[in-house]
Amino acid sequence: MTSTDSARTVLAGLDGMRHDLEDFYRDLHEHPELSHQEARTASKVADRLRAAGYDVTTGVGGTGVVGVLHNGDGPRVLLRADMDALPVQEATGLDYASNVVATDASGDTVPVMHACGHDVHVACLATAAALLAAGRDQWSGSLVVLFQPAEEVGDGARGMLDDGLQQVVGSVDVAHAQHVLAMPAGIVVTRSGSVFAAANSMRVTVHGRGAHGSMPQAAIDPVVLAAMIVIRLQTIVSREIAPTEPAVLTVGAIRSGTKSNVIGDSAVIELNVRTYNDRTREGLLNAIRRIVTAECAASDSPKEPEFELYDEFPPTVNDDATTELLAAAFADFFGDDAQELPLQSASEDFSDIPTALGIPYSYWGIGGTDPDAYAVAAQAGRVSADIPVNHSPFFAPVIQPTLDRGVQALVVAALTHLGKDE
Ligand code: ZN
Ligand code: ZN
Repeated sequence: MTSTDSARTVLAGLDGMRHDLEDFYRDLHEHPELSHQEARTASKVADRLRAAGYDVTTGVGGTGVVGVLHNGDGPRVLLRADMDALPVQEATGLDYASNVVATDASGDTVPVMHACGHDVHVACLATAAALLAAGRDQWSGSLVVLFQPAEEVGDGARGMLDDGLQQVVGSVDVAHAQHVLAMPAGIVVTRSGSVFAAANSMRVTVHGRGAHGSMPQAAIDPVVLAAMIVIRLQTIVSREIAPTEPAVLTVGAIRSGTKSNVIGDSAVIELNVRTYNDRTREGLLNAIRRIVTAECAASDSPKEPEFELYDEFPPTVNDDATTELLAAAFADFFGDDAQELPLQSASEDFSDIPTALGIPYSYWGIGGTDPDAYAVAAQAGRVSADIPVNHSPFFAPVIQPTLDRGVQALVVAALTHLGKDE
């Protein structure tokens, strides 16, 4: 028996669970919950884990759920799924589309959608957990399945750690997580080293002097000041960072003024940066502060600008040895569908958990896009234009083979460590 044989034996049970897997996925998709509000999802997950025989701890870091299954001597493996959805108005037209609205952290009423596919992650991990429990004669060791809140705001993993996650899971040897991506459904992709970027959001407030729109000489116009800053910020990545070093700076929001004939007295710029190492990140953030301060001086701004950092994500850097094992197991199980994951500019807070536990990890991706639609777009050179990506209101993973692949990948990954080689 190899670990691939064990995986095939455990996964033979998937045929009997596929209907339930797909129903659970559609139910989650139709009932998305914002970050830190994943109560319904958490309760459904906890029920399923208890029914499968796991020791379940709920309410870890808010809505986090941890299931532990001890099954003899051997390695201790952690598998993680994130549970939260986004404030996006769904436009997929699916018959299980979300009509949910909720109150966000600032008290605003917003539409809610599983626009990042975390419903795929939850349904797949709950099903993989049940299959591994039912097939426990195929492996030996301990399995920890972790359902995390609030990935989208970057503090769900830290929240679980701050709430005593280490005591709940005990000692663990290795951790894995997966994400559904806008790639052809059916493929499973791994990568050694850097996978996801670190992300930092920054809120910049600059000050002017308000006046009548007809009397600019009496004003210091914060709209013009902010516009200059937005343009000048584009030169950091293009002119200050080496072309071989990936980095992104996006100004996602700019707010100032109330009326066409009133010059306001301040402007707020909200921006986001993505980098792959600390040196580049610090260089980029320092350049932003320098440019904003200098543009404020150039405009004769009456007050120093203010800088506030928020929504911080760590970089995700896969362990080489763990990823080699995983890639070999995926190649064995999935054949040509096991491919290499290109470097991603998105970010994840999963790595906070293995980093705090001091253990290696490997994070992989699964495709979720209709392979035919993807092939048509690729043929026309229009993948970026035509294929909805994560966070798009049109992001709609095809149910199969996406869900099967998500379950299979989790089981194969777990058994890479836990499987009995005889
Ligand atoms: Zn997301
Ligand atoms: Zn996501």
